[in-house]
Amino acid sequence: MNNIDNLNLDELKSYVESIGEKSFRGTQLYKWMYSKYVFDFDKMTNLSKNFREKLKKNCKFTYFKTKDYQISKKDGSVKFLFELEDGNHVESVFLKDGERYTGCISTQIGCKMGCKFCNTAKIGFYRNLQTSEIIKQVIKINEYLTENESKRLTNIVFMGMGEPLDNYDNLIKSLEILLDDDALNFSRRKITVSTCGLMDKLISLSKSPVSVNMAISLNASTDEVRSQIMPINNKFPINSIVKNIKSLTLSKGRRVTLEYVMFKNVNDTTNDAKRLAKMLKGLPVKLNLITYNTTDDTKFLPPHPETVLKFQNILVDSHISCFIRKSLGDDIEGACGQLYANYLKRRRKNG
Ligand code: SAH
Repeated sequence: MNNIDNLNLDELKSYVESIGEKSFRGTQLYKWMYSKYVFDFDKMTNLSKNFREKLKKNCKFTYFKTKDYQISKKDGSVKFLFELEDGNHVESVFLKDGERYTGCISTQIGCKMGCKFCNTAKIGFYRNLQTSEIIKQVIKINEYLTENESKRLTNIVFMGMGEPLDNYDNLIKSLEILLDDDALNFSRRKITVSTCGLMDKLISLSKSPVSVNMAISLNASTDEVRSQIMPINNKFPINSIVKNIKSLTLSKGRRVTLEYVMFKNVNDTTNDAKRLAKMLKGLPVKLNLITYNTTDDTKFLPPHPETVLKFQNILVDSHISCFIRKSLGDDIEGACGQLYANYLKRRRKNG
């Protein structure tokens, strides 16, 4: 049986035609799901009874249920745990920062990339999320926000569990649905896809009709350190990142975000800052410094706040845009690199 909510508009139109209906019925179905958030054929009142019965016989909606959520006492961020149809779970976070309401969305259960400092990497890779499972994270967070704050998400970052560009086709389809004004209607300037550095796929994304903001997790100023903490560096070392940034298609005035998680005594020295300043000169980038959020791994420690400020100053003095990113939701393990692992550990322990 088809999971009908995995189809984009074109696929839906072809699908309804294949079962003997006019293609505009596909558009109606699409609007029910992605504009009205209705996933129940009986509630789709402008579809004929006959068509609804046909749909019920031939297809279903992807199971996706809110299992739990935790609210941060510190900043009002909320971490959601969702249950999927095969019994797996996925986490997403709503981050509240003034008027900016950001959904931090996952694209995989676990991750293959093996970054040494990331909790999600530690659980290994289970599977890619389907398009519907990506979109439903946004819908469930929006439903929660509508109910509790009469608001909706203003921004989306693909910085949850997994490597978005390692689930490329479903990511692209999700972006189509998120950006379409007949569906979730986000602006492309309010969505960011973050990658550990799959540069070939990032170039494809930048050239695609659904190009959105792009972020690359750099996290080191030398290949020696980057290879130690991010195995992907063996495939796409720092010079290939720099070179490829020049090949990205960027609309006028847009810049790529480089994320730089800082670890005490690993990548936080003044030499690191100077190397970065030299390397990034003239590139269309801005650098976001993120203080390492502690995970179980005692190998890494967060840098001293003054070290971060000093690091930023060196870059700013060299005319590189450089910002220190606030960490939200860390008291509920909803901050960068903290997703899911602890839930899974508890579950394994309890059998
Ligand atoms: N796979 C994608 C998106 C998920 S990670 C990527 O690598 O970009 C989102 C961001 O969180 C990345 O910049 C990553 O470097 C960062 N991150 C991972 N673990 C972290 C931790 N423990 N503390 C702070 N940031 C972390």
